Amino acid sequence: MEELLNIDATEAARLVRERETTAEALTALVLEHAGKTEPRVGAYLRLDVDGALEQARAVDAGKVSGPLAGVPVAIKDNIHVKGQPTTCASRILQGFTAPYDATVVQRLRQAGAVIVGKTNLDEFAMGSSCENSALQQTHNPWDVSRVPGGSSGGSAACVAARSAFISLGSDTGGSIRLPASFCGLVGYKPSYGRVSRYGVVAFASSLDQIGPFTRTVRDAALSLKVMAGRDPMDSTTPEREVPDYPALLKDHLKGKRVGVVRSYLDEMPNREVAGAVQRAIDHMQALGASIVDVELPHAEYGIAVYYVVASAEASSNLSRFDGVRYGLRKPADNLLGMYEQSRGEGFGSEVKRRIMLGTYALSAGHYEEFYGRAGKVRTLIKRDFDSAFEKCDLIAGPCAPFPAFKAGEKSDPLSMYLCDVFTIPASLAGLCALSLPVGFDAAGLPIGMHLQAAAYDDAGLLSAAHALEGVLKPEVDRVPAIA
Ligand code: GLN
Repeated sequence: MEELLNIDATEAARLVRERETTAEALTALVLEHAGKTEPRVGAYLRLDVDGALEQARAVDAGKVSGPLAGVPVAIKDNIHVKGQPTTCASRILQGFTAPYDATVVQRLRQAGAVIVGKTNLDEFAMGSSCENSALQQTHNPWDVSRVPGGSSGGSAACVAARSAFISLGSDTGGSIRLPASFCGLVGYKPSYGRVSRYGVVAFASSLDQIGPFTRTVRDAALSLKVMAGRDPMDSTTPEREVPDYPALLKDHLKGKRVGVVRSYLDEMPNREVAGAVQRAIDHMQALGASIVDVELPHAEYGIAVYYVVASAEASSNLSRFDGVRYGLRKPADNLLGMYEQSRGEGFGSEVKRRIMLGTYALSAGHYEEFYGRAGKVRTLIKRDFDSAFEKCDLIAGPCAPFPAFKAGEKSDPLSMYLCDVFTIPASLAGLCALSLPVGFDAAGLPIGMHLQAAAYDDAGLLSAAHALEGVLKPEVDRVPAIA
């Protein structure tokens, strides 16, 4: 039974469908395993043992079926699961219970997935290491002295530790892709609008997307197929056909043009990361792709633009946490005092920093100078991609400048912000992008490659990643220290 923990979700679903195992046995196995790994990993904020077993029994009884029937799935704790707390790893949501399922959760349930628990994150998804959680610390299963990456650190850590087959994260500037690269997983950020954000606590609405952490590309394709598509509750999801992503995966890259920004690799201080990514690019060529040089001249302004846009949108989105409508309320003599006390005690320092930054950027007299200008540079970044994608179908490069770092190592906010240098531009441009494990450094830490494609070319992106994964398998097939 133990060996079932190392298969992927597609295979697990097949075993349940063909009755080689039961959903209940599989769920019990994962829960029992989580019982062993959690004391050292701390990926979950809550495990729903009884609820999960009940969902699994419903699958076994034939009441629910679908492509993910019986597969244990974990959900980042900024996504609503009806009847359970949604904390966003913040004190301000203390006592809040989700009144409904997010659309993504609803669709996973309809596909038969078993929701096993809610995972840790940086408070309100603001961070790159998961250390900004106000509730607990999550450790990287490959080396527990290191961070799992963020903000979806818990979701990455549980799939790496084999205590879930799939998990959901949210990615605003890199929060799925960065932890996936730190934890040796596939992390998928869909094209903006491909997946509904209804029922996900908003951070920066023009950037947020929900996506899966998986062990294989085919699992990411399957998860996307289940979750994608029009949702009347999210006006940014277009009426656009959802391709059969898993059926479109190929084993070669013939006819594909892969763009590479040379300077990203040549100037990369960490040579092990540069080397692993270069080897993966060579594999792509061997699989039939042609490699072309591309330039993204405005990408270097990505971080600056992102911290204006994301903070501005966050300051507006987070104004709803006022001590009246949700969660924590700290009594005071008057209304203003109550707001001040509740928000003062409820939010952590990174969240406050963003709210202040964003409020300033949006304030009268500064709006044009900051938010207005950031919007213009965002357009330039997007145009760079438009012209790059005239020359190529995919852009390949490093996902992060380094592998997982030690907890406590990046104590100043700016050094933390720089972790997302490679992932942020795709978010600003609304592209689809993923992180794929391509190797390890000398210390045995996973290295991820960033692959990006034009908006709504999710099928092309997944197919290319699948082909590359096929040849990399022998090199990357390792299990973390805690799994
Ligand atoms: N690390 C980035 C930030 O702190 C991105 C976070 C995310 O994608 N949610 O905002």
